[in-house]
Amino acid sequence: MKEDGINEIKTETLVLSPLQKAPNPLKGLPNYLKEPKNYKKIQKVIVEAGSTPHSHGEIGEWAKCVKCSRAMWNRKETMKKLGFKNSVQYFLWKKTMDTLVEYLLWKKTNLKK
Ligand SMILES: [Zn+2]
Repeated sequence: MKEDGINEIKTETLVLSPLQKAPNPLKGLPNYLKEPKNYKKIQKVIVEAGSTPHSHGEIGEWAKCVKCSRAMWNRKETMKKLGFKNSVQYFLWKKTMDTLVEYLLWKKTNLKK
């Protein structure tokens, strides 16, 4: 994992986002998690931490598998290390960032010139 850039804080302010009126699930998160430029990178780190080469057909099998359980744990730990309080906050972050990234892209293509 490349660490460079992750602590760089150059925030394209979230105030520009149409999300500002919604309860902000990003509140309290470290700044690098709020940086749209870091989104893909962080997302990748978390997904990779929780991935195994397995694909279990049934949820029950998956839960009994030691490797998959460990990957799940690893993923939670990675989330914590990155600054998420829990997985709910992670999912809200993901949703918000998806929208934000889309919005910024839209802004870039539509409001230029
Ligand atoms: Zn497994």
